[in-house]
Amino acid sequence: MSSPNSAYVARDLAHVWHPCTQMKDHERLPPIPIRCGQGAWLEDYSGQRYLDAISSWWVNLFGHANARINAAVRAQLEQLEQVILAGFTHEPVIALSEALSAIAPAGLTRCFYADNGSSAVEVAVKMSFHYWRNVGRTAKRRFLTLSNSYHGETLGALAVGDVDLYKEIYRPLLMDVITVPSPDCYAREPGESWAQHSRRRFAHMEAALAGHAHEACAVIVEPLVQAAGGMRMYDPVYLTLLREACDRHQVHLIADEIAVGFGRTGTMFACEQAGIRPDFMCLSKGLTGGYLPLSTVMTTEAVYEAFYDEYLKLKAFLHSHSFTGNPLACAAACASLAIFRDDHVLEGNRALAARLGERARALEDHPHVAEVRQRGMIVAIELAADKMSREPYPWQERRGLRIYRHALTRGVLLRPIDNVVYFMPPYVITPAEIDLMVEVAREGIERATCE
Ligand code: PMP
Repeated sequence: MSSPNSAYVARDLAHVWHPCTQMKDHERLPPIPIRCGQGAWLEDYSGQRYLDAISSWWVNLFGHANARINAAVRAQLEQLEQVILAGFTHEPVIALSEALSAIAPAGLTRCFYADNGSSAVEVAVKMSFHYWRNVGRTAKRRFLTLSNSYHGETLGALAVGDVDLYKEIYRPLLMDVITVPSPDCYAREPGESWAQHSRRRFAHMEAALAGHAHEACAVIVEPLVQAAGGMRMYDPVYLTLLREACDRHQVHLIADEIAVGFGRTGTMFACEQAGIRPDFMCLSKGLTGGYLPLSTVMTTEAVYEAFYDEYLKLKAFLHSHSFTGNPLACAAACASLAIFRDDHVLEGNRALAARLGERARALEDHPHVAEVRQRGMIVAIELAADKMSREPYPWQERRGLRIYRHALTRGVLLRPIDNVVYFMPPYVITPAEIDLMVEVAREGIERATCE
């Protein structure tokens, strides 16, 4: 190790404990110190560049060092970096709330801020529970969730999620939830359409709601794509049915659009594809264009009004975080939304998504590719030990890690989830970069499945 990266690696490993990482793995594969970023590319201290095919954990929308977002953050920095949001306010948070209310599904007019996705989920869960208390429905205290869902790592968010890898060890600390089989279309019968499968799977949700509505606050879902659960996808009809059933059973619907919001699925918000308005919509990640930590929970006037009363009634939502609605983050978010507006981003993305889907589908014939699936700008390739039976590779073999390592040597940052290789690139990616990204994934898959 004598590259200009080495000194940073040594200093890092002396003190930094990395997220979502078995630190012992760094004995063989050290962390990569990034010096700078530009567009869809990251660059380390030795000048090696990496195409950011996963938008730096699904956050970046318009490239690293985006000139317009940089300018907005810089201008805000000269004015005000942070102020308490209780009792005080500021222009960026007002402008952002107006802009979000204008583009969100109609009726989501109230924005409550936090500073990361998990905290937004905590807010939505607490707010739903508290709403039912405030209106006198005190038996409502449980939540319904889908199998294989992911909503974050804090204890409440972990409880309403269902990825064992992250959840199992902490189970004794977590509230008890009602887990309903997912509409995930990877499990559909041969010849069955996504819509047919999702509709059929809804019977489980209908039964769970019928049995638990009296004690249920809300159903929480990741609309259309279960992201951390391996980019598993389902049809919008499920959300349409869910909205109707939640209304009928008087249970809230929480849409966790933290990963899928801001154009990832082809529409600004995934819920739009089902024509529904959730009672709570959680946003983070792409909210600031991926620049700064910020999240919001958008909700309705009906929910807001259930908390609005004389202080002495003790109905207020007293949740807070020190950095709630940070001005720099809000300024970045406003700039990001302006780019969507000015540059007709969703329209432009259609051509990129078509290219990405077309290139990735060329891998369908590979003997260890069980499925290539797509929703908008998210494309996933599911590997299997046996293509016909879809028997997965045992997780212990860490095939995805082999692909990750190969891609790094070719200057592409892929980060497979177990046996699922996926692409979720920033929207500034070019057609040539899409081709490179898919080609490198193909090479990685070849190497990882050859024995
Ligand atoms: N919900 C979903 C759907 C997510 O994908 C994530 C993050 N991957 C979270 C919640 C948690 O967000 P954060 O990592 O910012 O806490």
